[in-house]
Amino acid sequence: MMDFYCNKCNTKINEDPIEEFDSSQIKMKSEAQLLPVGKFVYAHDVQINFGVEIKYLVHQHSVRFRYHEDSSRHHGCCGPSNFEQLTLICPNCKNEIGLISGDCLFPHFVGISPKGISLKPLW
Ligand SMILES: [Zn+2]
Ligand SMILES: [Zn+2]
Repeated sequence: MMDFYCNKCNTKINEDPIEEFDSSQIKMKSEAQLLPVGKFVYAHDVQINFGVEIKYLVHQHSVRFRYHEDSSRHHGCCGPSNFEQLTLICPNCKNEIGLISGDCLFPHFVGISPKGISLKPLW
């Protein structure tokens, strides 16, 4: 079981604890959800290349986030799918916590950046 906290303001970004999902069960199908709500897989177990450091992949309904204020980051074919920059920020502060895959080219998921989150509360 895992929890994600913003490493700047200590806000917990998931509601329920997130548990590991068997990466052989993921759905590598365009526009399908990569994995169920409440689960995570390690990004290195999935055949997707990121231009930024991404450690965990989760369902977009497993975590709370806001879109980055820099709208130029939100490009993709028909939805946000920028894998070269972080596009999601903490729901409480402006700390960059991850990116989202939401267009027709890849499965849909949220990627969590190890630089923006902590697995333990900071205080
Ligand atoms: Zn498209
Ligand atoms: Zn925060």
